[in-house]
Amino acid sequence: MKKAIIIGTGIAAIASAIRFSAKGYQVTVLEQNEKPGGKIREFHKDGFRFDMGPSLFTMPWLVDELFECCGENPGDFFNYTKLEQSCRYFYSDEKVVDAFQDKEKLTAELETKLGEDAKSIHRYLNDAEEIYKLTAETFIFNSLQKSWNIQKKYIWPALKKLSVLRPWQTIHKANEGYFSNPKTLQIFDRLATYNGSNPYKAPATLNVIAHLEHNQGAYFPINGMASIIESLYELAKRQGVEFRFNQKVKQIVHQKGIVSGVETSDGFVPGEIVVSNADIFKSYELLPGIELPHKMKIAELSTSALVFFWGMNREFPEIGLHNILFAEYYKAEFEYLNSENDIYGDPTIYIYVSSKQVSSDAPAGKENWFVMVNAPTDSGQDWDLVIQKARKTIQQKINRILGANIEEHILFEEIIDPKNIEEVTSAQAGAIYGNSSNNMMAAFRRHPNFSKDIKGLYFAGGSVHPGGGIPLCLASAKIVDGLISKNE
Ligand SMILES: Cc1cc2nc3c(=O)[nH]c(=O)nc-3n(C[C@H](O)[C@H](O)[C@H](O)COP(=O)(O)OP(=O)(O)OC[C@H]3O[C@@H](n4cnc5c(N)ncnc54)[C@H](O)[C@@H]3O)c2cc1C
Repeated sequence: MKKAIIIGTGIAAIASAIRFSAKGYQVTVLEQNEKPGGKIREFHKDGFRFDMGPSLFTMPWLVDELFECCGENPGDFFNYTKLEQSCRYFYSDEKVVDAFQDKEKLTAELETKLGEDAKSIHRYLNDAEEIYKLTAETFIFNSLQKSWNIQKKYIWPALKKLSVLRPWQTIHKANEGYFSNPKTLQIFDRLATYNGSNPYKAPATLNVIAHLEHNQGAYFPINGMASIIESLYELAKRQGVEFRFNQKVKQIVHQKGIVSGVETSDGFVPGEIVVSNADIFKSYELLPGIELPHKMKIAELSTSALVFFWGMNREFPEIGLHNILFAEYYKAEFEYLNSENDIYGDPTIYIYVSSKQVSSDAPAGKENWFVMVNAPTDSGQDWDLVIQKARKTIQQKINRILGANIEEHILFEEIIDPKNIEEVTSAQAGAIYGNSSNNMMAAFRRHPNFSKDIKGLYFAGGSVHPGGGIPLCLASAKIVDGLISKNE
């Protein structure tokens, strides 16, 4: 039986473990932490449960697929529901807009509240679908370097439709061609932040994200976000995958250009295949003598996050599951993050309250608030000071917009900052999504899912092709699976 070793237990690692075990490999997973999940983690306190990572769930069928490739019925182990609205948007002038999932309801909302034209909204969503059809096989589900047979089928149709893809134009610029109200622009520009990018720099091709959220839909697991990892971890164990926790991999071992295993804190573990799920910068630290490709070194990192977790002593009916309180000057927020390496004075605030959907996540009559702002990556800032300032600004802004005095209702607080994200998940400088997509060539600059130097070494996860976020991480595991089948 061939042996595969997987470094890490992020979602791409567990998905890879499941796929390899279904292929007949003996799989060993080595994780430096005591629990699986990487960035998909949670904590419990005083009867509250908090997600500490992802909260928005798209393309759930990529999770289903993993059960199916092991001959199991996903619905027996993992269930999710389509949300009625993906987000509630709050503006500084107190306007509130709901992003309904039903297209006609969304159109009516944007027409009545923001004066948009129904035709433009439909055109935008149809174009987003077209971008998906033209790019998904090339940029999401296959290796950019090793699937020429598949890509040549898509390349000509894509070239003929460059006016829809518009890689040379920014998301914001392209969106100005559809919408007249700056508030609508903010709603759709914001989708660039789903992979830690800046809508005033990222290419308009990334408007594909609107297709994932608004055409395919935003979902929520019935038992909460952590159940994605829990159910996949259990599936992997049923498949016979061996998990070893508190095992930091110190080196990827290779001889004459072929991988032979890994060296851990507990000794050598042999394997014909090694998949590293560690951030790509950290993966290269496990490969002494092999240099990270230059294009990776010079690429801009994605943003990080500062998250406050507040146990609230009452319910707030005016907010929903996902909420955004927009900055008044959105462009200035991105410029400030980039130039000052600090959190903007009027930040866009994301509030996620999972207890709205999973009532057991907070005691009766209370709520679990996950309050996040975009943060720069860690470059040695005094995070205590940044946090102190940000907490004040955030609370003042929420009070003003919700007409509340939230400090009075916070029972306790926990925080994660870019440093903590790096410490726990090894993300380079706390960048959540690896490199940003802030330029037209970003997709080509991402590290491929295989090593050009060492046979048998692969990479899966948010810092390599096709990128960060749960669906893309699952796609990276699928690509690695395909590459291994090809090599076999
Ligand atoms: C605050 C936050 C909010 C987010 N929101 C969303 C969202 O709403 N929707 C969405 O889709 N995505 C979101 N994401 C992104 C998403 O969580 C990630 O893209 C995804 O979970 C990354 O998975 P991964 O497979 O790359 O592995 P990671 O989660 O990065 O895990 C890597 C694992 O490797 C382990 N490891 C590293 N080095 C070693 C070593 N040497 N030895 C052993 N183990 C090692 C680490 O301990 C870790 O467990 C968010 C992330 C964060 C942090």
